[in-house]
Amino acid sequence: MKHDIEADWLLFTTCNYRCDYCFVPEEQLGAKVRVKATPAEWRAAFDRTGRTWLLHMSGGEPSHYPDFVELCETLTERHYLSLNSNLTGPSILRFAERIDPSRVSFINAGLHPEERNRRNGHAVFLRHAEALLKRGFRLMVTAVATPEVLRNFDAITESLRPVGLAPLPKLLRGAYAGTRYPKAYTEEERALFRQHSLAAEKASPHLFDGRRERPTIDPTLGRNFLTGLTGYGGQLCSAGQEFVWLGPDGDVGRCGRGPSMGNLLQGTARFKKKAKPCDRGHCYYFCEKFTARAAQQEWERAHPVAAMATRIKRSLVGAERKDAV
Ligand code: SF4
Ligand code: SF4
Repeated sequence: MKHDIEADWLLFTTCNYRCDYCFVPEEQLGAKVRVKATPAEWRAAFDRTGRTWLLHMSGGEPSHYPDFVELCETLTERHYLSLNSNLTGPSILRFAERIDPSRVSFINAGLHPEERNRRNGHAVFLRHAEALLKRGFRLMVTAVATPEVLRNFDAITESLRPVGLAPLPKLLRGAYAGTRYPKAYTEEERALFRQHSLAAEKASPHLFDGRRERPTIDPTLGRNFLTGLTGYGGQLCSAGQEFVWLGPDGDVGRCGRGPSMGNLLQGTARFKKKAKPCDRGHCYYFCEKFTARAAQQEWERAHPVAAMATRIKRSLVGAERKDAV
């Protein structure tokens, strides 16, 4: 999936679930759905940048976004997608039928066991997961690792047996049950997280076999932050250049909150020309990827001949793989 830039795209904040650990405030989860642009207008805005995008669609719950499949269909003609979804929207079945899996990097299907049980939603989850798997989408099931989830992890794993996927625990971050995570995990909970994360990673070669890029939303990273998150202030990072945060109305930022870099729908977005020191703090998942990318850029600048040789080798291996297919 050769792309120039990746976006963490908050499509909208509305969601049909009410998970206790959600970052989105309750009134925004219940907000009336307002669409800021048609699928054709979004497509034109991305195309106008002259770049190929990998768009990580998140929310809220994207599968309830109006014209969700039409939006994905037009965007994937030229760009790539990845998706964060609770798989509740009926549009998931049309997505599975109409979208080309080779244009989708991965789908992170959030299980949210407590909320799903409350709504008797497990059968729908399995049906939608099965439809996606049948068409060859790279599906990853995650469960936010609350203490309750960690205690019940074996039963949660068993509940996914019909689709043959191993759930990955996802680090609990921020306020939950009157305390703050991940600092509040007990030693026993940390050990359970490591155990289930390692087992699920091993059982998921379609995500972690090393032949394809790991999902940007990589829940196995949680194992590195079980006692607290790291600050990235001052580290060289290519966010703003190779990655941006994109809001529902087209506003672009380097990552998360911070000064605006313009508006994509209005054609005023301006991107950084090179990696710059981090002026934020921690933008989970993306920090790891884009500080590593910045380090790679530095190495390539210092070793131009070796970098060229590596690029040629990679393109030859890619061509061989295509021939093999
Ligand atoms: S499904 Fe996701 S967006 Fe919806 S309430 Fe739960 S965590 Fe929040
Ligand atoms: S918070 Fe993370 S992604 Fe954002 S600039 Fe800093 S290191 Fe990069």
